[in-house]
Amino acid sequence: MARPALVGVYRPAAPLFVAGSGAWLTDEAGRRYLDFTSGIGVNALGHASPVIRDAISGALECGLVHTSNLFRTSPGEALAEWLTSHSFADAVFFSNSGAEANEAALKFARRWARAADGEGRTGIVALRSGFHGRTYGALSATDRPAYRAPFAPLLPDVHFIDPLDGDAARRAITRSTAAVIVEPLQAEGGVRPLPAGLLARLRQICDEAGALLICDEVQVGLGRTGALWAHEAEGVSPDIMTLAKPLAGGLPMGATLVSARVAAALQPGDHGSTFGGGPLVAAVALAVCRTIADPTFLEGVRRRGARVAARLAAMRARPGPVREVRGAGLLHGLELDRPAAEVTTRALECGLLLCGAGPDVIRVMPPLNIEPGDLELGLDRLEEALA
Ligand SMILES: *Cc1c(COP(=O)(O)O)cnc(C)c1O
Repeated sequence: MARPALVGVYRPAAPLFVAGSGAWLTDEAGRRYLDFTSGIGVNALGHASPVIRDAISGALECGLVHTSNLFRTSPGEALAEWLTSHSFADAVFFSNSGAEANEAALKFARRWARAADGEGRTGIVALRSGFHGRTYGALSATDRPAYRAPFAPLLPDVHFIDPLDGDAARRAITRSTAAVIVEPLQAEGGVRPLPAGLLARLRQICDEAGALLICDEVQVGLGRTGALWAHEAEGVSPDIMTLAKPLAGGLPMGATLVSARVAAALQPGDHGSTFGGGPLVAAVALAVCRTIADPTFLEGVRRRGARVAARLAAMRARPGPVREVRGAGLLHGLELDRPAAEVTTRALECGLLLCGAGPDVIRVMPPLNIEPGDLELGLDRLEEALA
């Protein structure tokens, strides 16, 4: 195969996909694959979802794809209204990706800290094995030496703590901390749920130190764990939450949700995005959000998730490469005794698409509305790939 004229930062699998439907993708030779990656958590409603198709055609009918934030359009305002009425938040900033949503979160945190406290409160605390994106600010809060080293120096005043070290948070979060950024379930870093109680403890320590708590729910928010927001499981609310991957069902969109005190610190000109919150993506995102937030839909995610957990536990119990199974809802990780790539390659031969989460973890992340029969078939194929 000729090398495509693309910068070599990816190592895509061989199939060239030409069509999709539900949990299935079809390559140019007509071979069909079950998609347990959901485009890295983006295609929450699967491929060719009628919800998304209808929202796109509805938006196109009125002819508004983009106007910029110089002007008002109603879909973005309706989406912001929906997001604030279904979360802790009081206001929303829209962007185009997870990294951008986190850039905004980090900037807003420092902006708020400066308004609230003057100079000196600029620190950002992040967790080991976390992932927040590839742009400079997001990368600075990402604990992945291989992603960071080629691009140093990064943003100063970012401090990492080990989520398993019970005292680290109290030592690191001080009166010079603007914010703590955390994924309620670490996805890219190996599908690692936070230790029980850690999120609540971070909330308490942030309150005592006068710092903000940022939940990065770019991957685990909007139903992936079986709850609308992953932080619900710990019964705490952040001050800022970032969303992206599934938000517009496959169209690029990021959102930074903030509480009233953070919103109050933001002034015209403080931040911006040319594309953010455009009428087409916002209309699609509103349809996706309404679909996922339906209690029956979320119940379906939990039911499917319980089935995945049971079957993965059985795979682990058998002799084979699976060392540990972790996760929640429809995001599970299998830690292996060998490189993840060996199993993802083998799965591809079995007609199953999987992605890794670090060197020795594979991720099981089907669409949230996957047909139960497809779910079983994909798990059968996974079993075959592990054999
Ligand atoms: C994917 C991801 C990001 C980055 O999102 P992009 O859209 O790739 O910039 C940030 N945080 C988390 C938790 C993610 O999973």
